[in-house]
Amino acid sequence: MRVLIVGGGVAGLTLAAKLLQQGRRPVIVEKAHAFEDKGYAIGLYPLGSCVLHGLGKYDELIERGQVADSYRIVDGRGGLMQDVDLSIFAGEIGPMVLISRTELIDLLQDAAGDADVRMGTTVSELHQPNDSGLVDVVLSDGTPEAFDVVIGCDGIHSPTRSMVFDAPADVFDSNWVLWVWWSEMPAWPRNEMLESWGKGRFFGLYPVADRVMVCAGMNENHITVEPTDLQPAKSYLHELFAEFSASDERIGSAIDSSTRFFSWRMADARAHEWVNGRVGLCGDAAVGFLPTAGAGANSAMRSAAALADELSRVNGQTASLALEMFEKRCRKIVEKNQKDSRRLAKYIFVENAMMAWSRNELVKHYPVAKMVGDIVDAMHTPF
Ligand SMILES: Cc1cc2nc3c(=O)[nH]c(=O)nc-3n(C[C@H](O)[C@H](O)[C@H](O)COP(=O)(O)OP(=O)(O)OC[C@H]3O[C@@H](n4cnc5c(N)ncnc54)[C@H](O)[C@@H]3O)c2cc1C
Repeated sequence: MRVLIVGGGVAGLTLAAKLLQQGRRPVIVEKAHAFEDKGYAIGLYPLGSCVLHGLGKYDELIERGQVADSYRIVDGRGGLMQDVDLSIFAGEIGPMVLISRTELIDLLQDAAGDADVRMGTTVSELHQPNDSGLVDVVLSDGTPEAFDVVIGCDGIHSPTRSMVFDAPADVFDSNWVLWVWWSEMPAWPRNEMLESWGKGRFFGLYPVADRVMVCAGMNENHITVEPTDLQPAKSYLHELFAEFSASDERIGSAIDSSTRFFSWRMADARAHEWVNGRVGLCGDAAVGFLPTAGAGANSAMRSAAALADELSRVNGQTASLALEMFEKRCRKIVEKNQKDSRRLAKYIFVENAMMAWSRNELVKHYPVAKMVGDIVDAMHTPF
């Protein structure tokens, strides 16, 4: 069975690695000429990291990543709202691990090393089915090829999705932007994540093994400088987060330490359908995530593993059956995860003082056991 995977990101590489284990050698086309740093870390819950057990890469994740034991949420003045001990579920289902996206991609690339990877390549045309029931594809280098099945793993703005479905994706746009950067911060406790939730602004610190990912969130309409203008951008952040820095001077130092800001728009996407004949969508291409619940990469890896499992039960002729089963198996749970991340975004990305105050009161009284329980429950839900 010839499988084309469009996009060599988290979902695409996971899928390729799982197919290789079945003795199938997929083709991956990846738009980028080389994998580059995108400036952010990924928090892997057991929901996603468990897939790495089956790829022989879990121990490496633990070695290269950073186990997070503590998740603290404070208000804009540094007042503690939540202090969640993440270590309490680690023994039962496994820990939460933070790793830079670059390192995760590297690890998955290694697992998918024997795939036929074509960097700097996209799909220019896609037609299905041809007379033999195959999908005809023309690649951006002009090569025509035919595949039994094509999987769009090409991310939140998926060109594959636009090629095979007329209906545009359903988009939730918060109008907020996240500026993300790396900071050395050697004194930062490596097992602690900290989020400061203010009115119209958000600050987050997430340590990986050798550095800390720093995030500043704000409404795009209030931004007065370009993130690429380093010094004006730092001055802008100092002004915006003056109250935060007054309560925790490490926030000011984190801003000063930036050498480059990466800007991410806080909008997601949801495809109306996942499957059209022999073309399917997986990962953010099917259901794209805001980073708020830290669920996108987790869902992408889990879905890719489920898709590979369904594909293991078919041949080229019956491939569309596997796609149908995959959608039935994963769609509800992935859309629920996305709904949670949208809800959380509505809590975090708050502009109004009264709403921010009410939100803070709610967060203070939200049972920690429930927060941790949700993570454990996710692991006891078939996916
Ligand atoms: C700041 C930030 C923080 C995040 N934090 C977390 C977190 O803590 N936990 C978590 O679970 N998730 C997190 N996420 C979300 C997570 O990164 C995504 O959900 C995940 O990467 C989705 O995987 P994917 O493979 O579907 O898409 P991607 O990883 O985006 O990969 C898509 C790939 O397709 C390629 N591509 C695009 N177009 C084409 C084309 N036409 N042809 C060929 N290739 C193409 C791209 O170059 C890319 O390599 C975060 C996201 C951001 C932005």
